[in-house]
Amino acid sequence: MLDHRYGGNSATIKDSEIVYVKDGGCDLSEYINLEIKDKIVLFEPSKKCSLFEGSFALEKLGASAVLISTPKSAIKPSFARVRIVDWKEGDPLMNIPVLSLTFSTFKTLLAGINNGARVDLVTNTEIKVVTTSNVICEGRAGNPNNTIVIGSHLDSVAFGPGMNDNASGSAATLEIFLQISKMSRKKTLNNRLVFIWFGSEEDGLLGSRHFVRELQKSSSPHESHVRLEQIALNLNFDMIASPNYIPMIHNGSDAPSSARCGSIVVQRMFEKYFKKVADRKYKITDMVAGSDFVPFMNAGIPTGGILTGASEIKNEEERILYGGIANAQLDPCYHKDCDTINNVNEEALGLMSKGAMYTISNFAQIKDLRNQLAKCS
Ligand SMILES: [Zn+2]
Repeated sequence: MLDHRYGGNSATIKDSEIVYVKDGGCDLSEYINLEIKDKIVLFEPSKKCSLFEGSFALEKLGASAVLISTPKSAIKPSFARVRIVDWKEGDPLMNIPVLSLTFSTFKTLLAGINNGARVDLVTNTEIKVVTTSNVICEGRAGNPNNTIVIGSHLDSVAFGPGMNDNASGSAATLEIFLQISKMSRKKTLNNRLVFIWFGSEEDGLLGSRHFVRELQKSSSPHESHVRLEQIALNLNFDMIASPNYIPMIHNGSDAPSSARCGSIVVQRMFEKYFKKVADRKYKITDMVAGSDFVPFMNAGIPTGGILTGASEIKNEEERILYGGIANAQLDPCYHKDCDTINNVNEEALGLMSKGAMYTISNFAQIKDLRNQLAKCS
């Protein structure tokens, strides 16, 4: 009956009561009397806290398992993993099962609570702590106080080879790195470029979070010579070759106020590429979660990126604007084992890689980069 997945160690729970808690388990002060202990708890995500925080608080109150509803519009359970957002070695991990449900299963269980429904829950999971790495390549040319970090994640989900997500972005940034290295022997770069291939993005942006967190602890030695205050800008490339693609640019206005103006400038640079160079229609999309730009953005560093879409469905209007197939997913193999080399749209890869190159080389040449990033009105 349960749709899947994530969480804790294996468990077999038989004939258990279910309890519903509101606010995603973020404020449990009024729930002690509900006797959460040894019961399966059901909740919907809340903006007040992360899925991990809610679930962890419920585990501490003695819940035997946590079931989380996905949004009504999601066709399958969307919380593939409860992202342990700021997790680092030594931090707590959950032991109880935490699973994601479709909205319809959630509704069925919710209705069942009033009728005294009881649930059997069997999970087969294991928590393991493994080592992962970032690959960092620091340019020698250009002003280090105007550092541009170019990021793409090198890992894939465990279920598939991850050719669109994210060999596409990683390969593009590698080629750009090679091309710019050749160019910069002849031409001087005004700003320092640092290329990073992040590890473990799919497990909760662990590589990029670690990188930024280490820079924030300025007293301790870290893996890079870069200092946080030297980073003027971060550009992120994650999924740039989706089979049924839409050229998309992250919305700079979504960035918190500390990083907003520069992020709008980044967005405009990508727009300029699509308008003036590629002559292609593009879509502005949210920049709120989901890839390695997040830790930079939250640290007040302007950021942005381009992407071609995941499991969202292209509508008829979008087909007319961008081509491709209507009523089909932008990437039907998103996070699946069919994300092989056959899942890479070479036309998209060419279009988007050139956009990446255009933006990186333009920002690398701007002499007063910080001033330009402050001009967004
Ligand atoms: Zn990705």
